[in-house]
Amino acid sequence: MTAKPIWTIARVLDWTKQYFADKGLENPRLDAEILLCSVLNCQRITLYVHFDQPLEEHELAQYRGYVARRAAQEPLAYILGSRAFMKYDFKVTPDVLVPRPETELLVECAAKLAGNIEKPELLDIGTGSGAIIVSLLDMLPNASGTAVDVSPGALKVAQQNAESIGVAQRLKFVRSDLYANLLQGAKFDVIISNPPYIPSADIGTLAADVKREPRLALDGGADGLDFYRRIIAGAPKYLNDNGFMAFEIGIHQGASVADLCRQAGFGVVAVRHDYAGIERMVFAAKEGITYADALLELAD
Ligand code: SAM
Ligand code: GLN
Repeated sequence: MTAKPIWTIARVLDWTKQYFADKGLENPRLDAEILLCSVLNCQRITLYVHFDQPLEEHELAQYRGYVARRAAQEPLAYILGSRAFMKYDFKVTPDVLVPRPETELLVECAAKLAGNIEKPELLDIGTGSGAIIVSLLDMLPNASGTAVDVSPGALKVAQQNAESIGVAQRLKFVRSDLYANLLQGAKFDVIISNPPYIPSADIGTLAADVKREPRLALDGGADGLDFYRRIIAGAPKYLNDNGFMAFEIGIHQGASVADLCRQAGFGVVAVRHDYAGIERMVFAAKEGITYADALLELAD
C-alpha cells in the first residue's frame, strides 16, 4: 500500500502550474500562487517561506474549487471577487469588465487635466465596476460625478465600490443608454468613457477569459466605433464650454476618434499611447479652453 501523498504548498503549486499550463493559461505559476494566497489569506512571499507546510483538508477543498474554475478560463478577478485598480481593490463580478491597467493611465491623465477646473462635474459613461469615476472622485476631493451604465448589475457593483472607497456622497448613479436618462439641462465639465470598442467580428477571436466578460462591455459595433460616434455627437449638449472629453480607445482607433471629435467642433485634440506603445486614449475640448496647452501636452 502506498502512503497518501502529502500536499505541501510546494507540491500543490508545482502540480497546479503543470495543470494550468496544459490548459493553455498564460501565467500558470502566478495564477496558482495568487489562488493559493487567497485560500490561505497570505502574501505570495509567505508561500515561499512555508513551502513544506501541508495544506489542511478544508484549504485543499477550497483551492480545488478555484483551480477548476480557473482551468475553465474564468478570469482570476471573478474567482477572487476583486481587482486592484489605482489605489484600491475594486469589487468585480461577472456583470462588469475587469478593470485594466491601461485604464489607470486614462484616469491619471484625466485627473491631471481636471485639476484645471475648480469644482469639476464628471460624467462616466459605461461605468462598469466604477473604477474610473470612483478613482477620480478619490483623487479630486472637489469633484462630484454621475456614473451611467445600461447594466443594472454593473451599477450595483459600482455603487458598492463607491461606498467602500468613501466617495458615494459625491456620486449619482443613472441607469441609462448613454445620455438618454440624464436630467434635462444636465451639464458636465468632464465626459469620460471607456466604452465597448471591440469590432463585433473580432469578439470571437478574443482570449477565452476575455470572452467570459460581458459582451455588453466589449462589443463596439461593426468597426468598434459606434459608442464614440454617439457619445461625441451628444457631447456638445452636455459638456460645458471649458470642459473636456477623455476616452479609452482600442488599437488603431486614434485617428478615427480624433476626427470624430474635430467634426463635432472639438478642435483641441490629443491622442496618447499606453505603456505598450498602443494608441490608447483621446482627449478633446473646444478651442478657447483655458488649459489647451496642458491638454495638447498629453499627446505623445
Ligand atoms: N468603465 C469601466 C472600466 O473602464 O473598467 C467599464 C468599461 S466597459 C469596457 C463598458 C461599459 O459600458 C460596460 O459596463 C457596459 O455595461 C456599458 N455599456 C454598454 N452599452 C452601454 C450603453 N448603451 N449605455 C451605457 N452604458 C453602456
Ligand atoms: N480592453 C478590453 C480588452 O482588451 C476591451 C474593453 C473595451 O471594449 N473598452 O479586451
